[in-house]
Amino acid sequence: MVDLDWKNLSFGYRKTDYNVRCYYRNGKWGEIELCSEETITLNMAATCLHYGQEAFEGLKAYRCPDGKVRVFRPDENAARLQATCQGILMPEMPTEKFIEMVDLVVRLNERFIPPYESGATLYIRPLLIGTSAQVGVHPSDEYMFLIFVTPVGPYFKGGFATNPYVIIREYDRSAPLGTGIYKVGGNYAASLKANKIAHDLGYSCEFYLDAKEKKFIDECGAANFFGIKNNTYVTPKSTSILPSITNKSLMQLAKDLGMKVECRQIAEEELATFEEAGACGTAAVISPIERIDDLDTKTSYVFSKDGKPGPVCTKLYQKLINIQYGIEEDIHGWTHVVIE
Ligand SMILES: *Cc1c(COP(=O)(O)O)cnc(C)c1O
Repeated sequence: MVDLDWKNLSFGYRKTDYNVRCYYRNGKWGEIELCSEETITLNMAATCLHYGQEAFEGLKAYRCPDGKVRVFRPDENAARLQATCQGILMPEMPTEKFIEMVDLVVRLNERFIPPYESGATLYIRPLLIGTSAQVGVHPSDEYMFLIFVTPVGPYFKGGFATNPYVIIREYDRSAPLGTGIYKVGGNYAASLKANKIAHDLGYSCEFYLDAKEKKFIDECGAANFFGIKNNTYVTPKSTSILPSITNKSLMQLAKDLGMKVECRQIAEEELATFEEAGACGTAAVISPIERIDDLDTKTSYVFSKDGKPGPVCTKLYQKLINIQYGIEEDIHGWTHVVIE
């Protein structure tokens, strides 16, 4: 294992030993290549640079107490990348090849997988870009798919905790029929200003309403939303939010715990009725929401009066991380063992 201060890693990029790459040329994917270079050579007219033909994914490898290394639902990341590819006209990477490359890059960088006790994990970042030189707007002929990994610190340094969020109306991250349902960099470019405003005001993250009517809850900057009330897990249905694999998993776990699950529009005013709320995604699993402020209407929707995570958020969080770390039985077959 490399000598790193595992307990104090941030969510940043750190060079590791290898990345894996695969090129799409003449209508087909080539062989998987190992690479120890952290740079890529690209034509300055590549479509990814000018016309946003770029898609990414994010997942993690967990060093577990039983000594194995597990990855959580990589088949779901492969499927979502395929959906993104259909959305912005890029060739789909087959699931088997995607998982083969995930396994390879994790094994090749085993010495960078943080120890279990540190709470840190190995973040896995697949990236697919159009590489043909073009100035006209049409899809690239050639593509590069690569996966790199980097060790990242635990999301909650001082333990599982709540955070404040703020509704931003001045900017939308995605249009109702736009690319919000795809994991593309352009959505993040569109979110940077709102994100900066939220941070400058002291909030953890910005919250988006639906772009068309500004009436319904969409999602946070890079995480889905859910609210809890009357033993029910409620999460927004929208054409402009990214389908989170964490959210999909939490919906199943909520059912397993005997809760009802509703995926439907959530009007902003309904926020006042939730007993608990959370933001969910791979990075934090669940980031329990302390409150959501609407500065325009001077309304504050409070989900935690004492600043502590609620019982349902805590139970769902524990259950999901216990499955990810191989501590609790994985009845849904979600984990994929990469190193025995
Ligand atoms: C990646 C992402 C999420 C979270 O998805 P997970 O699969 O749970 O990690 C949520 N919203 C946006 C905008 C994202 O890009």
